[in-house]
Parts: sequence; C-alpha cells; structure tokens
Amino acid sequence: MAQSAIIKSIMRSINTLSPELIAKIAAGEVVERPASVIKELVENALDAGADQIDIELEEAGTKKIRVRDNGKGMHYDDLLLCYLPHTTSKISTDNDLISIRSFGFRGEALSSIAAVGFMTIKSRLKDQEFGHSLELNNGENITCKKIGMPIGTEIMVESLFHSTPARKKFMKDSKTELRIITEIITQVAIAFPAIGITLSHKNSLLKKEIILSVPAGQSLQNRIQSVLGQYLSEFLIPIQYESRYGSVTGYISKPQAAQQSKYHQYFYVNTRSVHDAALAKVLTESYGPLLEPRAHPPFVLYLTLPYESVDVNIHPRKEEVAFAYRYEIQNLISEAVAETLSKHNLIYTQNSRAIDMDPYTADFLKNTITPWNVKTIAEGEVLQIHNLYLLAQTEKGLLLIDQHAAHERILFEQFKEAFAQTRESQIVFELPEPLVFELSVKDTMVLDEHTETFKKIGFDIEAFGKNTFKLSVIPEIFKTRNLVQLIIEVLHDIHEGRGIKTIDRETERTLSYLACRSAIKAGDALESIEQKKLVDKLLLSDGLYTCPHGRPTHIEVSLREIDKMFKRH
Ligand code: ADP
Ligand code: MG
Repeated sequence: MAQSAIIKSIMRSINTLSPELIAKIAAGEVVERPASVIKELVENALDAGADQIDIELEEAGTKKIRVRDNGKGMHYDDLLLCYLPHTTSKISTDNDLISIRSFGFRGEALSSIAAVGFMTIKSRLKDQEFGHSLELNNGENITCKKIGMPIGTEIMVESLFHSTPARKKFMKDSKTELRIITEIITQVAIAFPAIGITLSHKNSLLKKEIILSVPAGQSLQNRIQSVLGQYLSEFLIPIQYESRYGSVTGYISKPQAAQQSKYHQYFYVNTRSVHDAALAKVLTESYGPLLEPRAHPPFVLYLTLPYESVDVNIHPRKEEVAFAYRYEIQNLISEAVAETLSKHNLIYTQNSRAIDMDPYTADFLKNTITPWNVKTIAEGEVLQIHNLYLLAQTEKGLLLIDQHAAHERILFEQFKEAFAQTRESQIVFELPEPLVFELSVKDTMVLDEHTETFKKIGFDIEAFGKNTFKLSVIPEIFKTRNLVQLIIEVLHDIHEGRGIKTIDRETERTLSYLACRSAIKAGDALESIEQKKLVDKLLLSDGLYTCPHGRPTHIEVSLREIDKMFKRH
C-alpha cells in the first residue's frame, strides 16, 4: 500500500451530510420518477376533496408537470408551510397514525419534490376572492404573490431532477415513463369513478395529446369501461361479499378472460391502490381448475376494512400495506371469489376451453405437411416393454422412453415449425370489413408505441379515436381467431419485454392437441424399426425433455445409479 493511502486510511472517515444532501436522499425514497411526483400531487388533490383533477405533462413529466384541482385550497399561512419537511395538516398526534384515512400523512411529498425540481404552488380557498402563488427554487421560498385564480390548488413542477443527475440517469425513455404515469392515473380513475380526471401530454415537438379524459360523476361500471375498454369489460362479473373483517366489492373476470400477465389486476384497500402479490395469488388460486396454470384473471377488487386494521405506514411510496388480520382477509377473498364464480354461469367458458381447437389451423397443417412418423428408417437394439415404454442403451447407461409423450413432442415441434414458416411467408388477409375495437388506456399506449411492429408481422392497425383502433389486414394464418384477444396477448408480450412470440396461446393449444391426436398411443405395439427410429429422433433433437403438457418424454438412468442399486461400488 502506498504511504499516502495508509495515512488516508487511518484518517477519520465519517462526515455529517449537508441539509441539502439529506433532503435529496430523503426525496429519493419518495420521488423515484415523474410518476411518483404525479402520484403524490394527485393524492394531495384527492385529500383536498377535489372532484376534478387535471394533469398536464411535458416530455413525460421531466420538463413540466402541472396538477390542478378544485379541492378546498390552502390558507396563505399553510401555503408558506406546506413545502417544508414534515409539515402536514392530516395528522397531529401519534394516535392519528392508528387509523389514517387520508392518502398523505407524512408531510414529505411537497418538500421532497421541491428538493429535486422547481416548484410553483398556487392555491385559493373557497371563501376567498383571490389566491396566492408561491415560487420555490431548490426548496427555498423565492416569491409569494397574490393572484387571481379559480378555487383549488395548482402545483407545477419544472425541470425535475435537474439537480440530481444520478436520478435522471435512471429515467427510462419518455414512452416508458409516460406509460408508468398512465398506469398510476388509471389506478386513481378506477378507484374514484365520481372524480373527473384528464391527463394530457406534450412531447418535445409540442404536440399535445389527451391520454385519458373521464368525466366526473361516472358510475363504477361506466368508469371501468372508459379506462379498461369494452373488450375486457364484457368479461367482468360483479363481486360483493362481506365477513366480520371487512368487505370485498368490484369485479372479477370470467376464466376465459385470463391473461398470461398480471397486467389488468387492480387491487385497492380503502381506495388506496396497493400491490400485494400474495393476495393476488390467493384470488387467482380461488379459481381452482377453471384457470390454466400461469393464467391470471383480470380484476378490480376493492377491500373495505376498518381503518385501524390496516397499517399504511410501511412503504416509502405507500404502495404496500400491512393487515392486522391477513389470514382472515385471505379467506375473505377466496370465499368471495369462490362464491361469485359458483353463482355465475361459466359453462360456456369451460366448454370452449375443452374444445379449444382451431379448425382452420388444424386443416391447414393436415393439408400442408406430412406428420413425421416412426415407420421409415433405423435398425438396432431397442426394446419395447408393455407397449408403453422403450428401453435403449446409451453411452452412460440406459434410457427409458415414454413412447406416446416422445412422439407427441416430436410432432409438436414439427407442427410449430411449419406454422412459423407459413407465418413468416406473410400471406396477409384483408378483412371484408375492418374490425373496430376498444382497448384499455394502458393497452392503447403500448399499441400506439408498436403499430410499426405489428405492421411488420402482418397486422394493419390504425388509431381510430380515443382508445379505439381499426384493424383491416391480418396474417392469413390468424383468419379465424379472436383477433382482439390475439392482439392483446401480443401487446402484453411486448410490454413485459418477452418479445413477440412466434406462436400465440391458441395456436399452441391447437398444435399440442393435433400432436397428441396424431402421435402413437400408449398401448400401440411398435415394430423394432419404429422403436429405433423414435429413439434416434428424440436423441438427435435438442431439448425435447417434456411433452407439450409438461410430462417427461424420457429418463436416463446412469450406469453409476444401476451400480449403486446392485451395491457394486
Ligand atoms: P401530506 O400529504 O403527507 O400531508 P404533503 O407534503 O403532500 O404532505 O403536503 C403537505 C400539506 O400541504 C398537506 O398536508 C396539505 O395540507 C397541503 N396540501 C398539499 N397539496 C394540497 C392540495 N392540492 N390542496 C390542498 N392542500 C394541499
Ligand atoms: Mg401528500
């Protein structure tokens, strides 16, 4: 070690941080990205009793965020306090912490935001003729003046994170930030159907777009349709259930609406949107065998619980809560879901699942390819036992093969490849009449972002007004599909970064059904040449460990294991 480094290492190393740095660190917890600023400002507007909230953004909120509400406004004296750390009108004693009814309570949001952007706060109380405008720079009050303005509060935040480049670096591209913001506003819009909300955005070319606009005074049903779109809304079933611990209301969905992502799961505890993977899992599991593995039902679920039985003070951004009676709440949810599903006629759904076979794809494949069969080549030592399993010698030991599972998997791969090839050949089909469909606000944002991608894979989709799209051309191979469902599936794949799959779920099911039907059966006697051929094919292809249903196709038993069985160490 160099001399200077040694000296340095024995010098004292603890610093006292400056108040500015402390403020920035504290702000980091609350203000992670533009969406978190917007969440805090909108929650303040809700706490102020507003029934109209308008949000305007520039460059996904990084340049400017303006949130206006028609709530109760602030007194001049409060205005001069509200942006300071730990100032709140919502609680005053630690007793108040036991049953928090407001969104805010820590008095940290405005001070945190003020630490990372330029902030202007304008506010007018109901019985005053004018308001005040307070300008802050780096959390310091620079001016406060009297102004004319409507009743309520307007908070503007400019150049967010200008003083914290480290945080700015973590921002995603503006489309992603905008999508996260839209998600937050969607959550609020669903929780408060009576409140009017608009969200508009100007990009760097100053092009303004309205992302979401819902009027005040909507019914829950209308609100859900406005934000989640008609397609999804059609599958929703109302849920209402009560126990002594609380009540569950809202909507769950028919099994057939289940998706591979948890994209449309909205969960609220006393109108607060919260993430709770465990409770979402309980809900999903309550569907039992009605859902395929890894399928997630969309839902909008409101838990109403006594305020004292929920602790909201466990997460910096208040996205999670703790329950005094978690176990009982789990039961409440699973009973509610089971009862709701049992009362509903789901027979149609189950039937459609059982015969979920697309005749177009099936015919198409039958006519275009010759399924690989076991009756062509091969020689050698394979033994068939009980017309079920094949036994073969390998380099390391022996191989046990399930004849049906193995053949099924080989065929499945062959069908998949043939399907992908026809899709690649891009034969497109012009719909006799364009299909107009409506999506959720969130899906709309993803689709807007990716219409080009869809074009590349053969879908011609045009925006057609608010949340509505027009589909006129599709890949020929999808001619008989539920096209909206298909598009939503692809959207979710893109959104979750899975990339577009070469195959959609329905096709996969169809192909797996076809493979199962065309494969040799358990109980079929095979000639030795056929046995050999099946084994060779299985071993020559990579990764065919399981059949399309997940059962193993073959198991290798090593000589070492056999040696052990015979105690031959
Ligand atoms: P908290 O919401 O936890 O109280 P904030 O920092 O978000 O803390 O806000 C501080 C205080 O400023 C609030 O308690 C409230 O009195 C006042 N305030 C903030 N936003 C608004 C608003 N939109 N309308 C009325 N009062 C507001
Ligand atoms: Mg607040």
